[in-house]
Amino acid sequence: RAKAEFDRRICYYERDMDEQARERRDMARDLWTAVENDGFHLAYQVQKSVATSEITGYEVLLRWNRPGYGEVSPADFIPVAEECGAINAIGVWVLKVACLEAASWPEPFKIAVNVSGLQLSQIELIATVRNTLLMSGLAPHRLELEVTETSIIGDKQRALHILRQIKALGVSIAIDDFGTGYSSLETLRAFPFDKIKLDRSFMSEVESNEQSKAIVRAILALGRSLSVPVLAEGVETSAQLDVLRKEGCTEAQGFLLGRPGAIDWSDRLELGMRA
Ligand code: C2E
Ligand code: MG
Ligand code: MG
Ligand code: MG
Repeated sequence: RAKAEFDRRICYYERDMDEQARERRDMARDLWTAVENDGFHLAYQVQKSVATSEITGYEVLLRWNRPGYGEVSPADFIPVAEECGAINAIGVWVLKVACLEAASWPEPFKIAVNVSGLQLSQIELIATVRNTLLMSGLAPHRLELEVTETSIIGDKQRALHILRQIKALGVSIAIDDFGTGYSSLETLRAFPFDKIKLDRSFMSEVESNEQSKAIVRAILALGRSLSVPVLAEGVETSAQLDVLRKEGCTEAQGFLLGRPGAIDWSDRLELGMRA
């Protein structure tokens, strides 16, 4: 009886695995189709100075309207794109469109582009970044690449080499989702980051929980002693922003300041800037 039950479970398990494998294969096929047919678009989310509320830049977030499914989160399709290799073509496309777009923005605004771990393991990324800057005419200091520490778990030496070469072009590097990885402090010590992006999970309790607040305070102090600005992700309430202001956080990003989407250029008029 137990044997029969066991066999039945194994059978379900295998069927689940088949199902998942098939779903990933279908998604991979649709991703390649999207690469070939211009099936992606970009959303932009504003980043602001905490002290002055001035716009400092925008993060580019990839969007995919998958035929028959609707909007799929990049958190769900980026891993599949990495697995099937489509991430390279997608990454080149994102960088190109983002830099062309940013080249028309007012001078001080930077553009932040997410880079996946797979891209960071490939030496071609250096040439891709260099060529994209040349082609778009965007000044290198206006481009920032966001890398997560989990994306550096592969060949660290190679990733370090690639990041150094990209920095040598004048491009800056931010560590994304800081505080959620296995060895945040080790990563911070070994890699030449220009900005720390505090993961949004720290924001949810920062007003109500003293422990969360203490951790945020400690990371902000760390940034100050390393002379690295800290940007808080996922700021949704003005109470959270107040805490960040009191604790001396440099920049903030989140639904409170602006949702990802098309850029609202009335912000620019507010700043008295001309195109
Ligand atoms: P991320 O780089 O940490 O991006 C921030 C994510 O938090 C975005 O999700 C954004 O929509 C969401 N977010 C922003 N403000 C708030 C807020 O106040 N509250 C909450 N709850 N969420 C907020 P999204 O667009 O779904 O992207 C998820 C992840 O996918 C990104 O995390 C990034 O790791 C990855 N990703 C996005 N675009 C690209 C891309 O072009 N290339 C690569 N390799 N990865 C990308
Ligand atoms: Mg990011
Ligand atoms: Mg993040
Ligand atoms: Mg994230």
